[in-house]
Amino acid sequence: MSRSVLVTGGNRGIGLAIARAFADAGDAVSVTHRSGPPEGDLFAVRCDVTDTASVEEAFTAVEARQGPVEVLVANAGITRDGLSLTLSDDDFLAVLETNLAGAFRVARRAALGMLGQRRGTMVFISSAVGMTGAPGQANYTASKSGLIGLARSLARELGPRGITANVVAPGVIETDMAAAITEARRAELLASTPLGRPGTAAEVAEAVRFLADERARYITGAVLPVSGGLGMGH
Ligand code: NDP
Repeated sequence: MSRSVLVTGGNRGIGLAIARAFADAGDAVSVTHRSGPPEGDLFAVRCDVTDTASVEEAFTAVEARQGPVEVLVANAGITRDGLSLTLSDDDFLAVLETNLAGAFRVARRAALGMLGQRRGTMVFISSAVGMTGAPGQANYTASKSGLIGLARSLARELGPRGITANVVAPGVIETDMAAAITEARRAELLASTPLGRPGTAAEVAEAVRFLADERARYITGAVLPVSGGLGMGH
């Protein structure tokens, strides 16, 4: 059965791979973008997750096209790396605003439609380093571990209405974001990855699709690492 799916930050990288995987399986999929829509025929709406009005507008457009969102993938994310001692308030807060508060804004809005239908599922894209910490990424890791608390609170609040909330925690995945990592840091991360290689966005997409599938209806509040063993959950 075709479902109404929304992926934030779905114009490139991991989000685009997730959106394509759902679309290939026959779901009605919309993606959000800021910098421009993806190539192809995915329905794309402009949305800045740091802006509640923009989130509202995007959901209104998506609902008009494909009905209430039944599967939300909160994927939009940024990095602004720097060692804590010199990290500015702006760089700390910008990452929290996008990665954590942004996910909260879209989840809160999606929950409205899901509650009406008494079903739905949310998947939050966290990171392996959200559980291990990472030098130079106090802002990013705080936002990514924050997503686990957010998802688990939503799982408790919304579970009685048949709504699930889970987290996928990728390791090093080949995208624009990973391309910005220094060679030395990349080597360090891969040395700590038992499978010894970066992952692909498609591998993350498969895990997201599983958590959103009927077969996973009894899974909520879970953290599923897709990291070659870099992070093994908690
Ligand atoms: P990219 O940098 O390739 O893509 C980031 C996406 O987020 C883009 O679609 C971007 O939209 C969107 N985005 C950023 N800020 C906002 C905003 N304020 N409002 C709406 N959309 C926004 O990253 P990845 O594909 O690599 O990462 C996707 C997710 O996976 C992120 O949450 C990231 O933290 C996480 N992740 C990535 C890993 C990796 O190794 N790549 C590892 C672990 C987690 P636009 O293009 O319009 O700016």
